[in-house]
Amino acid sequence: MNFITLDLEWNQPAPGCKTVHQLTTEIIQIGAVKMDEDFKIVDQFKADIRPRFYPQIKQEVQQLTGISEQQLQSGVEFPQAAQQLQRWCGQEFALITWSHEDVPVLRKNLAVYGMDDAWLPDAYDLQIIYSIQQLEKYQQTALFKAMTQMGMEPELAAHDALHDALYTAQLCSKLEMRKGIEQYEAYYKESLKGRAVATKVIEGYKAPEQAHEDDALRQFGCPDCGLPLQIEPWEKEKGVKRTAKAQCPQHGDFEIRLRLQPRRNKTLRARAALYRIEEDENA
Ligand SMILES: [Zn+2]
Repeated sequence: MNFITLDLEWNQPAPGCKTVHQLTTEIIQIGAVKMDEDFKIVDQFKADIRPRFYPQIKQEVQQLTGISEQQLQSGVEFPQAAQQLQRWCGQEFALITWSHEDVPVLRKNLAVYGMDDAWLPDAYDLQIIYSIQQLEKYQQTALFKAMTQMGMEPELAAHDALHDALYTAQLCSKLEMRKGIEQYEAYYKESLKGRAVATKVIEGYKAPEQAHEDDALRQFGCPDCGLPLQIEPWEKEKGVKRTAKAQCPQHGDFEIRLRLQPRRNKTLRARAALYRIEEDENA
């Protein structure tokens, strides 16, 4: 049984570009690293993928990944890369990813090409194993930050699929992976505590102030009893981000976090998320 870390880089439709087959994330690079039962690295896989649906690589993606349109021209088509990956993975393997997004994105891309995804298992999210073991609670953490916190010195550029897969693999060797995998279900349940318990998305704001003034974004019911939470005014965070304290007299403290995202036609999309605040959080 091998363990495989997987990382993907993807592109999104350029502003004004139509979404094809409801595909919002087109994979442009696959990186993977194979480890033996003792989490020793034994092989690696990398493929650059020539995009079919969104050939124009968004500037943010180019900046983040360093991947250029020119580079992808010499890549392979997605179906070929996916077949190579499947063959390379072999028969018996478990997948490990940093965060939970990669496998669903891969499934969606396979589906768009009418390809089978039954060979692809769900992945263990190393971010969960890392944060439960090292931070004792779930916390979204960047891969780079986690490595630094583990005393590792990342020397390769981040956001290259193979580099990130290598880093994920190296991180495995620093964690109690056997325990993490055996107790994954309990870890997963524990991790839910650090995630948003409810979210609310409203589109079409013309300016940040309009969203900040919209009470609809701040109204949440208590997830335990359903009664409206008592909510304090927004506090300013970085830029247009806002947070607000909220409380249920019965069920404790919560926090609402508001983020605004620019959309086409210069409107804003607002996402308000409700988090449970653990009592020891500020301790
Ligand atoms: Zn309540």
